[in-house]
Amino acid sequence: MIFTVAIDGPAAAGKGTISRAMAERFGFAHLDTGSLYRAVGVKNGDPVAAARGLTPDDLERDDLRSLAVGQAASRVAVIPEVRAALLEFQRRFARREGGAVLDGRDIGTVICPEAEVKLYVTASPEVRAHRRWLELGGDEAQVLAEVRERDARDMGRVDAPLRPAADAVLIDTSEMTIGEAVELAAAAVEAALRRAGPG
Ligand code: C5P
Repeated sequence: MIFTVAIDGPAAAGKGTISRAMAERFGFAHLDTGSLYRAVGVKNGDPVAAARGLTPDDLERDDLRSLAVGQAASRVAVIPEVRAALLEFQRRFARREGGAVLDGRDIGTVICPEAEVKLYVTASPEVRAHRRWLELGGDEAQVLAEVRERDARDMGRVDAPLRPAADAVLIDTSEMTIGEAVELAAAAVEAALRRAGPG
C-alpha cells in the first residue's frame, strides 16, 4: 500500500509528537524532514555540498535539536539548491511501500502534493515559544523572538514557503492537550484509509 501522511506547520506546534504517534499507531515509517535541514545547517562550509553529501550518520548527531541549529537550518533552507538536493530522497520516502508519515514545512505543498492525508498543525507563537522554553530552558522572551524570526523566514521565503496546502486539515493545538491533537489527526488518517479502500 502506498499511503502518505504529510504533516506541516511551524516550529513547536506539535508536529513531531503527532507524527510519531501516527507512525506508531498505523505502522507507517516516519521521516522528520527538519532533521535533514538541521544536519545541513550544523555543518561548516558550503551548504549545497553538505546537502548533496548528506549521510544517515549526519542525521544521528545528538546536537541537532538546539535553538541555534534550528536557526541555522532555516537559513540554509532558503537556498533552492539545498532544497533540490533533499527533494528526491523525501519523495521516495513518501511513496515507499507500507505507508509513510513525513513532517516538515512543504510536505503537502511541494514534496508530496498527492499525499492521502495532509495536516497543518499550528499554535500561537506564544504557546509554541513556551513549549520550546520548557523543553530547552533559557530566556523565554528570547525564545519567543527566535520563534517569530524563524516563522518569518520560513513563511517569507520564495522557494517552498511554509503555508497550508489547500486541502490540508488544520489542527490548532494552542488550547489542546497533545492527546486531543493526536486523536484529531488519527481521525483524519482513518477517514483517508477508508477512502483509499482495502489493500
Ligand atoms: O522542524 P524543524 O524545527 O526541525 O525544522 C528546522 C528548519 O528546517 C525549519 O525552520 C525550516 O526552515 C527547515 N525545514 C524546511 N522544510 C522542511 C522541514 C524543515 O524548510 N520540510
